[in-house]
Amino acid sequence: MVLKKQTKYIFVTGGVISGLGKGITAASIANLLKARGFNVNLQKCDPYLNVDAGMLNPREHGECFVTKDGAETDLDLGHYERFIDQELNQQSSLMAGRVLLKVIQDERAGKYDGDDVQIIPHLTAAIQGYILEAGKGFDIHIVEIGGTVGDYESLSFIEAIRELGLKVGIENCLYIHLVYLPYINTSHEIKTKPAQNSARELRGLGIQPNILVARSEEPANSNIVKKISLFTGVKESSIALLPNAPSIYEVPLTLEDSGVATEIVRLLGLKDNKPSLKEWRKMVDLATKSFDKKIRIGFIAKYLDNTDTYVSVFEALKSAALWNEVKIDIDWIDSTELEDQKNTQKLKEYDGILVPGGFGKRGLEGKINAAKFAYQNKIPYLGLCLGMQMAVIAAARLSNFNEATSFEIDPKSKFQVITTMNDQKGKENTGGTMRLGNYNCNINKDSLTFKLYNQEKIIERHRHRGECNPKYTGDFDKWGIRIAGVNPDNGLVEIIEAKDHPFYVACQFHPEFKSRPTKPHPLFEGFLKAILKV
Ligand code: GLN
Repeated sequence: MVLKKQTKYIFVTGGVISGLGKGITAASIANLLKARGFNVNLQKCDPYLNVDAGMLNPREHGECFVTKDGAETDLDLGHYERFIDQELNQQSSLMAGRVLLKVIQDERAGKYDGDDVQIIPHLTAAIQGYILEAGKGFDIHIVEIGGTVGDYESLSFIEAIRELGLKVGIENCLYIHLVYLPYINTSHEIKTKPAQNSARELRGLGIQPNILVARSEEPANSNIVKKISLFTGVKESSIALLPNAPSIYEVPLTLEDSGVATEIVRLLGLKDNKPSLKEWRKMVDLATKSFDKKIRIGFIAKYLDNTDTYVSVFEALKSAALWNEVKIDIDWIDSTELEDQKNTQKLKEYDGILVPGGFGKRGLEGKINAAKFAYQNKIPYLGLCLGMQMAVIAAARLSNFNEATSFEIDPKSKFQVITTMNDQKGKENTGGTMRLGNYNCNINKDSLTFKLYNQEKIIERHRHRGECNPKYTGDFDKWGIRIAGVNPDNGLVEIIEAKDHPFYVACQFHPEFKSRPTKPHPLFEGFLKAILKV
């Protein structure tokens, strides 16, 4: 008889304030466990009543990350994938709305057999079902609970993970709580009271944390650890200090040095192995090094008040930059300002221009002007999703097809060079209906793109409604661009590039989702190399 492997569960909660980097902490712990040879999974539970992150406003919530199987998720999944270099799936993202929907659907389908349907035990059991399913087959499953302990909204998740300890055996579970240690400038002191209170609040909900991770702006000393231990009942050896780091990628190394990963493995009753962190350390060394060579990227964006909106694109650029040993400055340019043609002159200052993905009409003419400027002045241009759509329109208009437009700019126009296919019509503004997740692409062997990927068949992730209108692809040659990659299954354009240009490459997919800190994506690397002319 083959014994079924017992999955171990790690639950990560946060207290005191939001925005402490719970996602980075969960991802870092996963990184250290994977580096020890464990088969690790990660899952984010979010208290929002949305079914997924697809309809959330990126200005407030940051980027919508997309998994290979097309889940529209919280941006923390992007951190997870980058920290463990592993593709996640639908199961790794659980929003409260999805669980509620299931409970209500089950009730309608008569699955509750006449019971009163209640938060406890029905909603909590449904949450547990999703967690257990996602953890199946893994040595360790790490579950991050969004929000701050004490929030009304996350209570059912906290209760669900408390009960799970009883269901799967408390020896198979570990509760990690992330707290904050504020620094009082006038007295030069780090305060532990909010952390103590937060641990008490969690205890009040029936969970005694096994491990505390204490975030602070300034480095704290070992007396602080003693004090926290005394007041929270968490052993000193199970408390890790996490002061601000110059790079998020340093967090796993700080945690490794604190000994907390070894402690986690020990508490879970697993065998500790020496972690292999060589590649990671090399990357962190590069990420924190200052290089003499410097380049400036003009980043033509719409949401300028929240850097999280484009976090995967920034991480992809940074990764390509550090492995090419160059300092990269990314300047945000408001695309609406570029709607006035004469303002595009300021783009001259930049070594490269990048137009990322986006939705809605606002700022699109500015993005087209930026693409035109890059095309005409032979400045390296990288277009991502919307950035490809605008690059095609720019090329068309530069060839005197002035009416060329997209379905988002003019939904009634007959000249939609970028349009929606029949399966998308009428679905605008509905959830989960875009072209999402992995699609195949065949690259033309005589393209620049082929040189970058050095591969004929690729798979990349998508999230869009619009496509290059097949009616116009025959005109691309006339417009000075060519198709570098197509979807072999439906014939849709995946990548275009300009014929007579150092680097005018744009793709319908989102390559940033597959870039890794230790492995930059070929398109981002190609863009940087074109700028550096190597
Ligand atoms: N808004 C465009 C579309 O729906 C581009 C989407 C994107 O950039 N992700 O097709």
